[in-house]
Amino acid sequence: MPAYDLIVRNSKMIDGTGFLEADICITDGKIAKIQRNTLGSNTSHVVDAKGMLVLPGLIDPHVHFRDPGLTYKEDFLSGSKGASAGGVTTVFDMPTTQPVVTNASMFQEKAQIVKEKALANFGLFGAASIDNLNEIEGLAQSGAIAFKTYMVAPPKERTPEYAGSFVTSSGQLYRVMQAIKRTGLIHCIHAESDSTIACLTDELHSEGRKDPMAHYDSRPNFTEAEAVYDAILLSEAIGTKIHLVHISTAEASELIASARERGANLSAETCPHYLCFSKEILNERGPYAKYNPPARNPRDLESLYSALNRNIISMISTDHAPHAKEEKERGREDIFKAPPGTPGVETRLPIILKMAHDGRLRLEDVPKLTSEGAAKRFGIYPQKGSIAPGSDADLTIVDYDEEWKIKAANLQTKAWETVLFDGMKVRGKVKYTILNGETAYEQDVGFAKPGIGQFVRGKPSN
Ligand SMILES: [Zn+2]
Repeated sequence: MPAYDLIVRNSKMIDGTGFLEADICITDGKIAKIQRNTLGSNTSHVVDAKGMLVLPGLIDPHVHFRDPGLTYKEDFLSGSKGASAGGVTTVFDMPTTQPVVTNASMFQEKAQIVKEKALANFGLFGAASIDNLNEIEGLAQSGAIAFKTYMVAPPKERTPEYAGSFVTSSGQLYRVMQAIKRTGLIHCIHAESDSTIACLTDELHSEGRKDPMAHYDSRPNFTEAEAVYDAILLSEAIGTKIHLVHISTAEASELIASARERGANLSAETCPHYLCFSKEILNERGPYAKYNPPARNPRDLESLYSALNRNIISMISTDHAPHAKEEKERGREDIFKAPPGTPGVETRLPIILKMAHDGRLRLEDVPKLTSEGAAKRFGIYPQKGSIAPGSDADLTIVDYDEEWKIKAANLQTKAWETVLFDGMKVRGKVKYTILNGETAYEQDVGFAKPGIGQFVRGKPSN
């Protein structure tokens, strides 16, 4: 019997100080050994990674794969195919599917539905609001990777879609944080100020504003900062570990920086669209450029890069949030009628590698920003986020030298017509995505059979 199931030869890996070249030997879905030369070793399969970069399998801690309930926008197959083609081996899927994941039985049902379609490992969020305080413990016991709460209410017509996932006051957030604290899991927070945004939106409506920039004007920078400030204060008072999703402003970054400096237990992420586009994109692409929080200003982009380079923000997620083209088109005449969100799970790595090549980010930080940071924060390191003996054999093999242009029509998402990154020049082509020691995606061959993605249980972290 061969000693190994797979050896990835000539793997060029990024470690803390530079590059390391070695062969990665895999058995039973785990990394068994890393050594310089394995010629002569007995193995069932070999992948030659010569000339390529091998990264710890990418984790995207923030996707909306819409399954079950909204599968015309995306389903777990199209979503996780996109993940796999983009080098992502683990996704954390948000609870705003239909029904919203507010209790243990819905959680287990969703896990079963998505399992058979999964081409990526998956963690699932539980929703947390004032309406399901008594279900939070059950969700944690079912294996929720973390909890998600919106601090801003959805538009009235979309309330059922979000029922059980949002709070509209600090008092409500306080109670939810208290309940989550007892689970030891991370509380992920969408921080935008509900009452201020409602007030500004009313003002814009009465002025008759419907133009794309009205979206930005309804949610200016301080509306994010206000909510971030509230969330940080409450979490410190209560002792709940929080993670602030899709941070977009200089103001919020500074609040996070000072909270981390005084030792607050919080982490934050930002997304490629906040690093690539300023609010002008709203004028250029109208409803397709509508997402929450909105695109910001050049000084915010600078500040986000700085926060990433100073480890104030420790991960780049995508907030992959696909909508049908017809739904986006509803915002053509009135921006408030378009649903917010944009797809991105498949395009994150080449965008980040381009940023690294351009000197905006350090290449040696890419494993942390795309994998290790999330694994550590969400308690699954070094099972995930690491290339080391004993870790799961999740690997992303990418040709860093290849420059190419994103072509939306070639992407796996059902919402490819809405992709904002279409035409963008990027760097690094994913050649292989190795999932639990199996090839989930190979550039010239395609995808493995769906269902090989495994459920990733949440664990209390530090
Ligand atoms: Zn989201």
